[in-house]
Amino acid sequence: MSELERIRHSAAHVLATAISRIWPDAQFAAGPPVDNGFYYDVELSHRIAPEDFARIEEEMGKEIKANHVFERQVVTRYEAMEMATKGRLAALGGREVTSKFKLDILTGIPEHEEISLYTNGDFIDLCAGPHVMRTGNIGAFKLTHVASAYYKGDERNPQLQRIYGTAFKKKSEMEAYFTMLEEAKRRDHRKLGREMELFTFDEDVGPGLALWLPNGTVLIEELERLAKETEFAADYQRVRTPHLARENMYLTSGHLPYYEESMFPPMELAEKNADGTPGAVSDKYYLKAMNCPHHHKIFGAVPRSYRDLPLRLAEYGTCYRYEQSGELLGLMRVRSMQMNDAHIYCTAAQFEAEFMAVNEMYLKYFKIFGLTNYLMRFSTHDPARLGEKFVNDPELWKQTEDMVRAVLQKSGINYVEVPNEAAFYGPKIDVQVWSAIGREFTIATNQVDFAVPSRFGLVYKDRDNTEKTPLCIHRAPLGTHERFIGFLIEHYAGNFPLWLAPEQVRILPIGDEPELVDAANALRAELRAHGVRAEVDPSSAKINGKVLRAEESKVHTMLVLGKRDLDAGVLSVRKHGKGNLGAKPRAEVIEDLLASIRERRGNEQAS
Ligand SMILES: [Zn+2]
Ligand SMILES: [Zn+2]
Repeated sequence: MSELERIRHSAAHVLATAISRIWPDAQFAAGPPVDNGFYYDVELSHRIAPEDFARIEEEMGKEIKANHVFERQVVTRYEAMEMATKGRLAALGGREVTSKFKLDILTGIPEHEEISLYTNGDFIDLCAGPHVMRTGNIGAFKLTHVASAYYKGDERNPQLQRIYGTAFKKKSEMEAYFTMLEEAKRRDHRKLGREMELFTFDEDVGPGLALWLPNGTVLIEELERLAKETEFAADYQRVRTPHLARENMYLTSGHLPYYEESMFPPMELAEKNADGTPGAVSDKYYLKAMNCPHHHKIFGAVPRSYRDLPLRLAEYGTCYRYEQSGELLGLMRVRSMQMNDAHIYCTAAQFEAEFMAVNEMYLKYFKIFGLTNYLMRFSTHDPARLGEKFVNDPELWKQTEDMVRAVLQKSGINYVEVPNEAAFYGPKIDVQVWSAIGREFTIATNQVDFAVPSRFGLVYKDRDNTEKTPLCIHRAPLGTHERFIGFLIEHYAGNFPLWLAPEQVRILPIGDEPELVDAANALRAELRAHGVRAEVDPSSAKINGKVLRAEESKVHTMLVLGKRDLDAGVLSVRKHGKGNLGAKPRAEVIEDLLASIRERRGNEQAS
């Protein structure tokens, strides 16, 4: 547990202490730290509402001020059972009733495991720890909301009240966190997506299936252009594959049955009986949840030799995943997604260089998007769970993990190692990035795969004429369009840099005299001939009104054109959120625009 998690988990104990003081009959279940805070599940006849928070927080404040030590005590199973029976666990003293959830949790602790209690003041809880030293180490805290949750997440169990809060080491850190949340609300990708007409969802199309409007499609196509150029320069080859495949392929890949829950149910094709009614099912097709199996088939479609390796197959492939409807969230969790996918087939000797190049590609993208805060989470296997959670090949695990670790160290990338979270078939790297306002997103995953190529019988002829199985690297630096664009909307607050902006330039003639409008249209035509997304506001509105309207639409650059500008051969340049940048010769303005687009300058960052 990190220090922050210890603070938050300790705050959960303090929360339970406070609730017990106010409502001594409260029965507590679990109180772990979670992303951004902590919660405690409680069963209580009083329905806790946000109006109760001030009172609970006041009690919590007293407990923190008292600066009680979190004392750890190891007890026997029998002693713990006794205390639970007397209602002494997760309570301030003995009670008439059993600490029923704690008793149940106790019975679930394996025989050989140590049982520990933590005491702060009079409050004793069953807990494996760890905690901070004293309640006073909790620098700042706040209760945030209440939800309901079934005990152990099982709907056959009693429904509990889940009280959420957050805690920080310092008050200033907590303030910064809440400011960031406010800012995130302002930048919410669903809100901006609607206002900027980027994407929409429609009940008739189905939940989690985004429709991309013209403005959002611009973002998609610019990202694809970036990926295509970058991958072309890195010697990738593009492929195209269908969105579905027969059941048999997913049995080979292992997606069936292991991944079946996340896939859309099959389309069953039936032969027709003589009377025209549907007969027995003859074939099943599944929508693809991943692109890998199709790419493996492309690798296997042609005899391969060591000379073909590394072979890098890329596709912005569309995948379909059956997320529970309750889990769907804007673009962040969807059922149809386009992935910046590629599979690199290589030999073990080529692995390091390939993996290094993939990392460099990440760094290149981070730079373009102005991402300075990122972290790679390197998930490794647990040797104790070989053959169960992880492919049983200890030698290959060691070899690939060593290789990945070496590359990460060598490239100086910020990373942490997380044991026991690898994929079934190899180590993986999740890339976390922080948006301009400091919110964390998991954008992309990199995986090393040494098991699936052999399931597909993929081989290449080596120098010595023997057949060998390649390694496969799965990589998707730009993640999926859905999630990445959702992230970018927040990151830029919708104020995209010129190269990405749906409407890059709007020309604003001062007035609607034919001469000016003609000049504006000629300028638009010239810019569009260079591929610039330029429009004209031909209305007779006052110039201030035109500027305001363009600002509201988050048009990146406004070119104001008056009679005097026309005579002098200049354009007055305004940038969204930056105001008037002054007049410049027409040719220079155009050249600046083209250079900014060509170089994908990130200049005008979010405001
Ligand atoms: Zn604890
Ligand atoms: Zn893959």
